[in-house]
Amino acid sequence: MMKTFSIGGIHPSDSKISKDCKIEVLPVPSKVFISVAQHLGAPATPVVKVGDQVKVGQVIAEPAGFISAYVHSSVSGTVKSVGPRKDLAGNNMTHIEIDVEGDEWIEEADLSDTLITAIPEDNKAILEKIKMCGVVGLGGATFPAHVKLCPPPGKKADCLILNGAECEPYLTSDYRIMLERSKEIVVGAAIMKQVLGGCPAVIGIEENKPEAIKAMTAAVAELQKTAKGYDGISVMTLKKKYPQGGEKQLIDAVMGRQVKSMGLPIDVGAVVQNVATSLAVYEAVQKNIPLITNVLTVTGDCLPLEKQHNYKFRIGMPLSYIAEVAGGVPAEAAKIISGGPMMGKAIANMDATTVKGSSSLLYLTAEQTVRGVESACIRCGKCAEACPMGLEPFLLNKYARNNMMDELEENAIQDCIECGCCLYSCPANIPLLDIIRLAKGDVIRIIRGRVQQGKK
Ligand code: SF4
Ligand code: SF4
Repeated sequence: MMKTFSIGGIHPSDSKISKDCKIEVLPVPSKVFISVAQHLGAPATPVVKVGDQVKVGQVIAEPAGFISAYVHSSVSGTVKSVGPRKDLAGNNMTHIEIDVEGDEWIEEADLSDTLITAIPEDNKAILEKIKMCGVVGLGGATFPAHVKLCPPPGKKADCLILNGAECEPYLTSDYRIMLERSKEIVVGAAIMKQVLGGCPAVIGIEENKPEAIKAMTAAVAELQKTAKGYDGISVMTLKKKYPQGGEKQLIDAVMGRQVKSMGLPIDVGAVVQNVATSLAVYEAVQKNIPLITNVLTVTGDCLPLEKQHNYKFRIGMPLSYIAEVAGGVPAEAAKIISGGPMMGKAIANMDATTVKGSSSLLYLTAEQTVRGVESACIRCGKCAEACPMGLEPFLLNKYARNNMMDELEENAIQDCIECGCCLYSCPANIPLLDIIRLAKGDVIRIIRGRVQQGKK
């Protein structure tokens, strides 16, 4: 029987309209604006100044803490400015503006198509390369990958899980890389499992992606036959259910283990990385290519098929530029989302630029974005039934509206993964996600404040 996670979940329509669109390489624009905050943790510190000449792949900002990451230039050219610019949400963040001149890469980058399957033996050197190449988790969290691959003392990885679920409707970038870069993803998995001490690696893919399951299974079989270090890697077909790609949900589905409230995957012996992160690990370790590209889906019901795309982009490209290359923003688009319709964020500023974790430009129509009129809770329990974290959203809603912080914490609002299953299920159109998200931020600030003061 196919596995899935055990608590809650919903079944929104797939809408993978762009799934057959092959990855196209976006032409490089005349200038890019590269943010120093493309990862979870402290923004990186710029190490270039106005007038400097940079090559593609050169470090332009260094980590500013343990949880931080290197940022590299995605183009060659001249640094034009280093200063504030509005990001996706409209907040000011330091960006490095570079005027593009040619396409000169750092010398060590191997740009050939040759697949390198031999895995280096020195784990310390591998981790250093992953760090130096600025690899971060590309499943949404953008947590620095080298940190996740070093379990803390006393903790050990029993399983590396590769997230190929791509359970958000509309998004197809992971699907395309699983079809088009399957072997590289498997090499990345073999590298990470070696670093983690040789635990098994499971690539979890939902049943609605049979072609990806076929491609990844064939890649694993071929590498196991022809190269060393690939034993213990397998593909697991998962029953389709949202949000299967959530870290805790995927661990439950694959390993049958539950991560406790406020716990970490490594507490139950799991390390989860996205398939795109695995590809970035391959490029870093085997090809000396830093994380300066990723794949993004341009999609929406209001776009004709010929205007649906999966683009390989370089970091720092303005979203308005990508929209223009893709054929323009459709007149019917009432809202543009970065990420999927469930967990993605509305784009407040199309002059914002791509970051390592960019995954989509999703156009939603007015009809798709209009919310039903809110009415009183009828205590149907549908939100609690749908919540994959076992929370009671109707209760959290009540406590949040009454500012009852202790009750919110006691009822584990901090565990909310902001998946939107409650909002999706509520027949009374109560904006549960919006209310819970805001209150969760307040509760987490209270908990952090307490920890800083040394209280429990
Ligand atoms: S958004 Fe939070 S409360 Fe709502 S279903 Fe998801 S995890 Fe549960
Ligand atoms: S789904 Fe909506 S109406 Fe039903 S219990 Fe939850 S909040 Fe109330």
